[in-house]
Amino acid sequence: MRESASGKVFIVGAGPGDPELITIKAMRRIEQADVILYDRLINKELLGYASSYAELVYCGKAPGSHAMSQQLINEALVHYASQGKTVVRLKGGDPLVFGRGAEEALALAAQGISYEIVPGITSAIGAAAAAGISVTHRDYAASFACVTGSRCHGDKMAIRWDLLAHSVDTLAIYMGVSELPAIREELLKHGKASSTPVALIERGTTPSQRTIIGTLADIHTLALSMKLSNPALIIIGEVVSVREQLLQAEQHAAALIS
Ligand code: SAH
Repeated sequence: MRESASGKVFIVGAGPGDPELITIKAMRRIEQADVILYDRLINKELLGYASSYAELVYCGKAPGSHAMSQQLINEALVHYASQGKTVVRLKGGDPLVFGRGAEEALALAAQGISYEIVPGITSAIGAAAAAGISVTHRDYAASFACVTGSRCHGDKMAIRWDLLAHSVDTLAIYMGVSELPAIREELLKHGKASSTPVALIERGTTPSQRTIIGTLADIHTLALSMKLSNPALIIIGEVVSVREQLLQAEQHAAALIS
């Protein structure tokens, strides 16, 4: 094990699921780590790139059940770095998009421990691309927003569904599976058209990816009947209809070739 006077923590994005969607920088940090503290949503294949001496610590958080509290994770990062170790904090997607990476960075900064953020492809971008959805489009969407669908006890920021319903063209909603009926109701209440196309992308960028397409009128019943489960993203906006055009064009081209 390589030890120096002061360790360093790399807060690293593992990408959305497909292990090949990690950055070269993130991969190098994994290879060099003495300790890797990893989350539930990272692709476990990535841990295979750690050195044989690396200690692997699971800190996953499934909805409703936490293997390690955020406080404990922060303390563990400080603990390992204080021993002079090279620490990787490996998170799904991007560490700063609903990843609590900033809280960890703050805890490290408060103890004078150096850290670096290595960004990753966030799941909205990865899953949308894998499902054939372009989150912006010159004809359909000049803006998109990443929104959390889950509000935990103690969260300080309210979600402004009233503004989001009108001021953003494409909504990418994380952690929204169990809240889908409520989200849908909020958007409809604030005047979003019930014909607005919606895509639900489950386990995006992985071999078991599933995409469910509907509209704000029926998406909650579709999710129920298709037994949508975590992790999944909700994409709302006209860009979802472009996906259908894309699929039709692909089928047409395939028919011409065969
Ligand atoms: N930091 C992560 C997000 C963590 S919040 C990122 O940048 O992607 C966890 C939520 O991300 C899940 O509830 C789900 O909404 C979304 N998510 C993560 N991986 C996903 C995947 N492979 N497919 C669809 N959604 C995913």
